[in-house]
Amino acid sequence: MLFDPQDDGRRSPFPRRGRFYKANLHGHTRYSDGRLTPEQTAQLYRAQGYAVYAFTDHLIEIARRGGPDAYIRHIQSVATSDFLPLTGFEITFERQCAAGEMRPAGNIHLNVIASVPQPSQTPPLSVYGQSYTREDVSAMNRLIAGLSQAGYRVHFNHPAWSGGDSAIYLGLAGYQAMEIYNSTTDHLSQEGDSSLIYQKILESGRMIGCLATDDVHGGVDELEAGCFDGFQGWTMIHAEELTYNSIFQALDAGRYYCSTGPALYDLEEEGGVVRLSCSPAARIFCKGLDSHSPLAAYGRGGLLTEAYFDLRQLKGSPFARFEIVDSQGRSAWTNPYPLKEDSTACLI
Ligand SMILES: [Zn+2]
Ligand SMILES: [Zn+2]
Repeated sequence: MLFDPQDDGRRSPFPRRGRFYKANLHGHTRYSDGRLTPEQTAQLYRAQGYAVYAFTDHLIEIARRGGPDAYIRHIQSVATSDFLPLTGFEITFERQCAAGEMRPAGNIHLNVIASVPQPSQTPPLSVYGQSYTREDVSAMNRLIAGLSQAGYRVHFNHPAWSGGDSAIYLGLAGYQAMEIYNSTTDHLSQEGDSSLIYQKILESGRMIGCLATDDVHGGVDELEAGCFDGFQGWTMIHAEELTYNSIFQALDAGRYYCSTGPALYDLEEEGGVVRLSCSPAARIFCKGLDSHSPLAAYGRGGLLTEAYFDLRQLKGSPFARFEIVDSQGRSAWTNPYPLKEDSTACLI
């Protein structure tokens, strides 16, 4: 079995009650190195159909521009009945190079999203820019554990762009999700796609969620010039209602998928077979531990809007996840779901 039963007995990660809300979970404003105000951000994203936006300005820059309290008051002031701002911060660790090392990069950027609009505790400024070595990620892991205890979600940002080697990203622990796609690093250096690193982390045994985000820094000038880094990667959160608590709970429960184009409509399991329905797609994959040979459905002479996957064929994999690819090569990714051994799939 892949999915636990919902209240109505249907095995799906998405209950019938509720709906998907479009979200950008990473973005900057003039409180750090972004060009938009919180008001402009809300106006532009609401017009594009977004209902949720996590403001995640760099903590150290916020401190120089009025401090966290003024920042939180300002971003929460743009809330409306159809637009929910989430309170967040981006924090950074700087890689300390050993003598003779070639690459100076390898910074770790983490987004922390508060579980309430006005958190009583903000992340400590002292951690910003703290250095770490290749062998030592313990300081970051202590920070992640402390922030989790304080009620924050922690997201691992743009690892493909950040650089660093596997000892660093496999050593990070205690966070909830990773950016499989980040738009601004795609614009900066064509390094927005972290799907290979995501698979490596899953192979290491960490079952974390995946996100697609904009990390928007651009402003109205870039938008008018056609080189805006927004509206490229989003997360669809399935929640009962558009309230802070309901959205945060849905994130914590993993009731979301992310996308750079395709829409996932539903996932449902019956008798060990998963049915996936989606917007028109060229290919749909069901992936497990062996990412080189996923179960695949191809549109033959047309596009697919549904696919069926027999979970028995993933035997031995501890999880299954799904990826939809449209005719333009854009993807939607689900989270990984634990594959339980006592599957009814064995009976058919
Ligand atoms: Zn960053
Ligand atoms: Zn950022």
